[in-house]
Amino acid sequence: MNIIVYPNLLLRKVSEEISSIDKETIEFIAGDFFDTMLEKDGIGLAAPQVGILKRFFAINIPISEDESIKKIVINPKILSSSKTKELYEEGCLSVPLIYALVERPISIKVSYMNEEMKEITEELDGLSARVFQHEFDHLNGILFINKLSNVELLKIKKALKELKNKYKNDK
Ligand SMILES: [Zn+2]
Repeated sequence: MNIIVYPNLLLRKVSEEISSIDKETIEFIAGDFFDTMLEKDGIGLAAPQVGILKRFFAINIPISEDESIKKIVINPKILSSSKTKELYEEGCLSVPLIYALVERPISIKVSYMNEEMKEITEELDGLSARVFQHEFDHLNGILFINKLSNVELLKIKKALKELKNKYKNDK
């Protein structure tokens, strides 16, 4: 599947909840969608990034050379966020080759439906919390470049402008 790139307006839309989750939908998310993330070496991929305005995303966080935390997340909610925040460098398949420091809560409590259609509630921290928040933002039309301090924004301004010119006619 093709990844949609900034400044495509599809990345700015608020996605809709999946009201009836059927086997086909799950198979698609766990199959083609998940594979697209792996193929692009992403540690996360949200539905709007492939042009689907539905509330789901996938996560694949490497923990060792051949192990990773894999998640399929459908209709997610962030129930609470820690007051403590930290800065960490983020990138995005939809904003290729641009990286910047983003401030986010270090831990969160979330709920979502997984690929077995089970309702999961869990606490996340570290990179898991980071990626979950980044992907969750995609479902609300928010990109990491919208969350930068002025200093960070200034650092990537030129690269962002180049990206905009390169992809402005993409539909
Ligand atoms: Zn992203």
